[in-house]
Amino acid sequence: MPRLLPAAFAALAALLAPPAAHAADATVLECGSLFDSRSGRMLGPHAVTVRDGRIESVTAGVAAATPGADRVDLSAHACMPGWTDLHVHLGSQSSPQSYAEGFRMDPVDHAFRAVGYAEKTLLAGFTSVRDLGGEVAPHLRDAINQGLVKGPRIFAAGKSIATTGGHADPSNGWNSMLSHLMGPPGPTEGVINSIEDARQAVRQRYKEGSDVIKITATGGVLSYARSGDAPQFTGDEIRSVVETARDYGYSVAAHAHGEEGMRRAVEAGVTSIEHGTHMSDEVMRLMRERGTWYVPTIHAGRFVADKAREDGYFPEIVRPKAAAIGAKIQDTFARAYRAGVPIAFGTDMGVGPHGDNAREFLYMVEAGMPAAEALQAATIHAATVLGVDDQGRIAPGMRADIIALASDPLEDIDAVMDVRFVMKDGTVYKRPDAR
Ligand SMILES: [Zn+2]
Repeated sequence: MPRLLPAAFAALAALLAPPAAHAADATVLECGSLFDSRSGRMLGPHAVTVRDGRIESVTAGVAAATPGADRVDLSAHACMPGWTDLHVHLGSQSSPQSYAEGFRMDPVDHAFRAVGYAEKTLLAGFTSVRDLGGEVAPHLRDAINQGLVKGPRIFAAGKSIATTGGHADPSNGWNSMLSHLMGPPGPTEGVINSIEDARQAVRQRYKEGSDVIKITATGGVLSYARSGDAPQFTGDEIRSVVETARDYGYSVAAHAHGEEGMRRAVEAGVTSIEHGTHMSDEVMRLMRERGTWYVPTIHAGRFVADKAREDGYFPEIVRPKAAAIGAKIQDTFARAYRAGVPIAFGTDMGVGPHGDNAREFLYMVEAGMPAAEALQAATIHAATVLGVDDQGRIAPGMRADIIALASDPLEDIDAVMDVRFVMKDGTVYKRPDAR
């Protein structure tokens, strides 16, 4: 290292020092309107004071001057709690190359891509996500929490739990040589075939640092296998997952398209049903009774149905499933909403392109849900599904996860596609350019 003169060293130190703002300084957001996620109503002008990553105060009207505070003029904007997407896969994004890339790319390649996906998701207004399957997410979560990468707060499932040949069996589609070399995957790799395996798989996820447990209760659209509907766990196996998960304070999210697998998952006590494509009236009744959440992921359905029309986008074994299941999810969502099933927001992004998450709101509204309820699904209800009580609302003591849109989404839901301001844990990631 070259020797520095004292004066030069002091100048360099001053350059490298953090900006003059103190950690205790407040940020005041002057909001033109404020979405109350409890009542589902848009309120008039409010000032929101943020300090140390938390909301300190929320006052109606125009902000009084706070000495030393950083003021953000959002008087032409609609403020609301940062959104949560309860179903993403930040470790991947589908493309015609996805299946071949599974054999060519290393985990670090996926991790580098995930860095960009995480930032796009945050800047689209999603300050939290639940990542339901993928080994990148727990590590990405830690990197984001350490401030190394910009992204949403991640609640990660880690490896999904499947059964042999089921959706999320990591060896599906392998040739015989690879299968022979690697041997059949077991609970460590997330594949179970007994209640003992189920316990071991949950405990393995605990060991690896998962925040939530994901199972694939039926076949899936994009896996290299014929059926998207067949039940793939016995009731006892799911009960074993749920009971073990409870020991560790975990909730369980169940991917399900077919009716029988869905019923078994709901009866076994899972927290949420993901996709829910062939949900019958009977299962809807059961979910309403038991308070099981439905996370519809309409975006993924629309996306794969669309891509199934393109030659070569999906392997031929996947194509008919994508066409049939994809087209149905939005109808199921409409029926479930009318039937009073509790609904929370999720897109299955990673099927569709990361950063396009808010389009799900448009699909929800198109299918008959009022805009206010769609926004509640991604704020206050999403927090309930996550099992946390310090996000999803703008109120004193809550995490300072706040976003602002250029116009009122209750008047025109298209406003959700134009997020102008993003704050997570009190740090501003996006500001309106006009001053
Ligand atoms: Zn998924």
